[in-house]
Amino acid sequence: MQRQKSFIDAKPTLYLVPTPIGNLEDMTFRAIKTLQTVDYIAAEDTRVTKKLCNHFEIATPLVSLHEHNEWQKREWVINQLQQGKNIALVSDAGMPCISDPGVQLVEAVLAHNLPVVPLPGANAALTALIASGLTPQPFYFYGFLAHKKSEKKKQLAQLEPLATTLVFYESPHRIKETLQLMLDGFGDRRIVLARELTKKFEEFLRGSISEVLEECDGLKGEMVIIVEAGSGAQADIWWEAYNVSQHVEHYIDQGMMTKDAIKQAAVDRQVPKKIIYSEYHQL
Ligand code: SAM
Repeated sequence: MQRQKSFIDAKPTLYLVPTPIGNLEDMTFRAIKTLQTVDYIAAEDTRVTKKLCNHFEIATPLVSLHEHNEWQKREWVINQLQQGKNIALVSDAGMPCISDPGVQLVEAVLAHNLPVVPLPGANAALTALIASGLTPQPFYFYGFLAHKKSEKKKQLAQLEPLATTLVFYESPHRIKETLQLMLDGFGDRRIVLARELTKKFEEFLRGSISEVLEECDGLKGEMVIIVEAGSGAQADIWWEAYNVSQHVEHYIDQGMMTKDAIKQAAVDRQVPKKIIYSEYHQL
């Protein structure tokens, strides 16, 4: 159990500071003041943050903290906090930690019993959701799907029965493939593709998946996909009455190699492959 009183026991703090997702006017007064007054700004890409700092006359030193050095940089940040310094974490755009670096740092700082104070601000998922016209509660923020098609298919199959609005981030290079897989896996549900939010070419495509898919050729820019909730009905789990051996043998009977049958049964049951392997081979 840990109790943090953010503004009463003033201690050196890690501030999580959102930055604009396209429109500089979305920077809050508090975000600017925090970035001006901390001792260091840990930034995903210091070149991107330097431009923001120049615009808002923020002269605080920048240090780099990105997905490849976050693990090592945690030590440095904790050390600075322990020496009484305040640090702000920013990503290139939007909220740190949301499909962006920061999660490991936050965990480490909390593990050292040091305060983490979040600032509200720009975020692509929520900005798209509130204008989608789809029910915003409950919603499931998924972020980016896997790049690999087979993995993406599996992820979508797991999401299909959920009775919650779904929120995804996607790149323009993969949007057509992703929408096609959504159409195959979800049926022709209502979706909203929100593009270039807060920027000059902000656009919402609201319609069925097939309608939006038709308009997707050549679409560029940053994108959020909001998908209407599923019915909540669980798909028929045909293997439910089978034990593990029967489940694996069902696939072998269909012509799969044993190792592939084990792998598929593990996917169906959402358990590690080694569990199915041991049970099947009675190890
Ligand atoms: N941390 C960010 C946030 O709070 O929204 C998200 C960072 S993630 C690396 C970048 C993805 O967010 C983009 O690929 C896109 O899917 C989405 N995104 C960011 N800015 C956007 C914008 N202006 N319009 C639409 N989507 C955006």
